[in-house]
Amino acid sequence: MPYSDDRDTWFEGQGLWAHIPASDWQSWTWQLKNRLTSIEHLEQYMTLTADEKAGCLFASHKLSLAITPYFFNLIDRNDPDCPLRKQMIPREGETQVSSEEMLDSLGEDEHSPVPGLVHRYPDRVLFLVTDRCAAYCRYCTRSRLVSNAQDYNFHPEYEQGLRYIESHPEVRDVLLSGGDPLLLSDKKLEHLLVRLREIKHVEFIRIGSRIPTFLPQRITPALCDLFKKYGAIWMSIHVNHPKECTQELKNACERLSYAGVPLGNQSVLLKGVNDDTDVMKALVQRLLRMRVRPYYIYQMDLITGGSHFKVDVRKGIEIIRALRGHTTGYAVPQYVIDAPGGGGKVPINPEYLEEINDKEVVFRNFEGKQFRYPLTTTPLPKKAEIEMPVEDLRIH
Ligand SMILES: *Cc1c(COP(=O)(O)O)cnc(C)c1O
Ligand code: SF4
Repeated sequence: MPYSDDRDTWFEGQGLWAHIPASDWQSWTWQLKNRLTSIEHLEQYMTLTADEKAGCLFASHKLSLAITPYFFNLIDRNDPDCPLRKQMIPREGETQVSSEEMLDSLGEDEHSPVPGLVHRYPDRVLFLVTDRCAAYCRYCTRSRLVSNAQDYNFHPEYEQGLRYIESHPEVRDVLLSGGDPLLLSDKKLEHLLVRLREIKHVEFIRIGSRIPTFLPQRITPALCDLFKKYGAIWMSIHVNHPKECTQELKNACERLSYAGVPLGNQSVLLKGVNDDTDVMKALVQRLLRMRVRPYYIYQMDLITGGSHFKVDVRKGIEIIRALRGHTTGYAVPQYVIDAPGGGGKVPINPEYLEEINDKEVVFRNFEGKQFRYPLTTTPLPKKAEIEMPVEDLRIH
C-alpha cells in the first residue's frame, strides 16, 4: 500500500507520560534523565520481538540504547515494522558484520590532524565536540566512538582543535558535530562560539544536530539567544521520516528560524524506514512547512553491522527522480554517497543528459520527454533598422 501522509496532523501531547507535569515534560534535562535505556525499561511499555531482544542484548557492546520519552511516544508499539522503531530499537541484524563493512568507513581517523577534528576538504573542517547524543540511531556512522560503547574513549580536545583552526587560514567553514553538539551546556557552546568568532578566517559556522528531532525541548529561548548573538550560524537537522515531524519539532524549528538560524535537513536512506518515494515526498514537503530546506540524502555508510539497513543505490536514484519536477524544487535534496575510505561526498544523480556534442545537448525532462538545446548559433539576416520613438524626458 502506498504511504499516505495525513498532512494536517502534527502529533502533539505527552502520550504515555500524560500524568507528569508539563513543566517536567518541557524540561530537556527531565527528558534526558528519563530516557529508556534497557530491555527492562522498554518492556514496561511494549512487547519486544525476539529479533529486538537479541539486538538489545548485543547493543551494549556496540552503541548504547537510549530513547527520549518524547521520541518514544512517536514509536508504534504494536508494529515491529514501525519506521521509527527500526531506527531506535536494536535488532539482531546488528550482530551480523559483513566483509565490506568498516569501523571507520569514512577514513575519518586518518584525516584527523588532532583528535576530534577531520580536515578532508580544502576549506572546511568537521569538529567533533562530544561523543554523546540525546538518543542513539542504530545506523550511526560514528558508532565506533559515539556513546563509548566500544571503549573508543573519545575525548574531544577543544583547545587543540581550536589551535589547529587558528593556525590554518584556509579553514573558512567549521562544522560542529559529534555526537550531538547541542548536548553541551549553553556555557560550553558559548565558549566554542566565542573562540570560533575570534578567528578572523572562520566565516561560516554550522552545527549538525539531531536534537530538534529527539529533544526539541533543548531548543530553549536561552539557546536561541546564543545563536542570535553569535550568528550567522547554520544548522543541519536530521529527520528521516514524516512521522518525526511533530508539532514540537515544528515549534523548535520556528524558534531556530526566528533566531536567524537557516535550517537544512540530512536524511539517511534506510531500508524499511524511508526507501520509498511516497515516504520521502511526504517528508520533504513537511520539512518545507517547518522552514527546513532538504539538504542531503545519504546513502548509508559501510558501518559494521549495518547491512540490514542497506538500500540499493538505484532506489535512491528513483526517489530523486520521483521528486525532481514533481514537487517544489526547494524540496529536492542532493543524494550523495560519502566515498568509502574518505573520498568525500559525491553526488549521485538520475541521468537526464542523453547526449552532448558540439552541436547540441539532448536530454529528458521529469516526464521522460526528450528535448534538445542547440549549442550552435546561426545568425539570421538583419532586418532594416526601425526608428524607435524616443520618450520625452524633459521636465515641463
Ligand atoms: C560532510 C562533511 C563536511 C561538510 O560537507 P558539505 O558538503 O560542505 O556539507 C565537511 N567535512 C567532513 C569531513 C564531512 O564529512
Ligand atoms: S544523532 Fe547522529 S551522531 Fe548521534 S547516534 Fe544518531 S546519527 Fe549518530
